[in-house]
Amino acid sequence: MAKAVRGSGAGVVILSCSDPRLNPYQVFGIDPTIKGVSMVTNAGGRAVDAVRTISVLQTIGNPRTIVVLHHTDCGLTHFHDAEIKEALIKIAPEESDTINASKYGEIVGSIEDSLKEDVAFLKASPFVQPGTWIVGLKYDIKTGIVTKVDEAKAGN
Ligand SMILES: [Zn+2]
Repeated sequence: MAKAVRGSGAGVVILSCSDPRLNPYQVFGIDPTIKGVSMVTNAGGRAVDAVRTISVLQTIGNPRTIVVLHHTDCGLTHFHDAEIKEALIKIAPEESDTINASKYGEIVGSIEDSLKEDVAFLKASPFVQPGTWIVGLKYDIKTGIVTKVDEAKAGN
């Protein structure tokens, strides 16, 4: 039976924070009508949260590049897992074991640290196809400048 891969392998996944100040189409000058770019956003643009979606996108479309875009002044540098867990346990106390065992993507060090962590996480993930190029970019909210912080090839 033929494998149902639809993409050419030339696609890109851009993983970025949900912060409304960060518009990846604008940051990279991408025309949203052009195919081949998939946007994944979550709180912080964290890989731990996005790996399920990335694995699905690589199964149905085979994008071979993942761009991780984190930004300065990110909410997850201000709110940490302990505060998020405390708030969630108030809402759903019956789920406290699950909440306490979960990661919510806090950024305790610098944005450079969170990018290195996420590039390493995706590189080592068994759900990311070997050979996928992973690039970690930092976006400065004040200046609009994008800086490459880290890069790696998955599955080495
Ligand atoms: Zn953010």
